[in-house]
Amino acid sequence: MIFTYPFFQFFRQLHQWLSGNRLTILTYHRVAPEGQVTFQPALTTEQFEQQLIWIKRYFTVLTLAQAGQLAAQGTLPANAAVISIDDGYSDCYEHIYPLLLKHNLTASFFITTAGLAEGQLWEESIAQAVIDARLARTELVFRNQSYPLQTYQQRLHCSQQVIETLKYLPLAERQTELKQLWQLADAPSAAQQFLTQAQIREMALQGMEFGAHTVNHPILALEQDDVALAEIVQSKQQLEEILQQQVVSFAYPNGQYGRDFSDRHQAMVAAAGFHYAVSTNAGSNSDLKQQALCLCRISPWPTSEGRFLYSLLNGSGKHYDAS
Ligand SMILES: [Zn+2]
Repeated sequence: MIFTYPFFQFFRQLHQWLSGNRLTILTYHRVAPEGQVTFQPALTTEQFEQQLIWIKRYFTVLTLAQAGQLAAQGTLPANAAVISIDDGYSDCYEHIYPLLLKHNLTASFFITTAGLAEGQLWEESIAQAVIDARLARTELVFRNQSYPLQTYQQRLHCSQQVIETLKYLPLAERQTELKQLWQLADAPSAAQQFLTQAQIREMALQGMEFGAHTVNHPILALEQDDVALAEIVQSKQQLEEILQQQVVSFAYPNGQYGRDFSDRHQAMVAAAGFHYAVSTNAGSNSDLKQQALCLCRISPWPTSEGRFLYSLLNGSGKHYDAS
């Protein structure tokens, strides 16, 4: 289907009419060139750029902090959208940032700050341990489960299975299991796969917003309150030290309200000094004041322009269960 200029205008008008002054927040994780995608969920750079082109056609793109400020003044533009990217992998700098610059767009990046020191997060670490396990190793037995490792596909499958197995363990237990996995896999040491502090500063100077996403990406609901609060507060402090400016936005790890975090964690986020916090619950946001600490997001999946627009229009989007 070919869309002509009047169609863009029509859609903008229609969206404005249907959504009033709602804020649409899109969420992404990993972006890599075709053939280099080793993680799911991920878009190829081509798919991501296509979505940026569509977003720019129909929306006024702001950072979350900008949108919040404008909403507070009652001047949020119609068809306002925020592009958010979680976790802080090096894709953000290598593949996402250049495309944002090319299309003159900004985004809000939510950083799991342990990755800055360790060079990677737990999911990456699992994948690397399994995929880079010594070639002679044809099988991995982990937590009483046997995984074949003879082909790349089998290793990829194993890493995804192990990630799912460890995702809902409390932080301390997950870290113990991760150490055990590295010993079993006998892989070479971990490589840098995360943003660096210098990259974060450079991107911030180009208008990108940085928000916190905890230190170690725990499921907050599984942790004791003092651990959850420290995860929230320390990630803010670490980013503020790097940026030398206030960090006002936060993203809940995994992000499903009621399952991964609760009102208790929203209160902690407010007490820590954040103004806005995003979940992974699907939907758009009609009352930014009311929803400021539990904002909904949508994840439009690679699809046709018509379906992409439909998902944005009804605020549902296909939301994959991701962190
Ligand atoms: Zn995350």
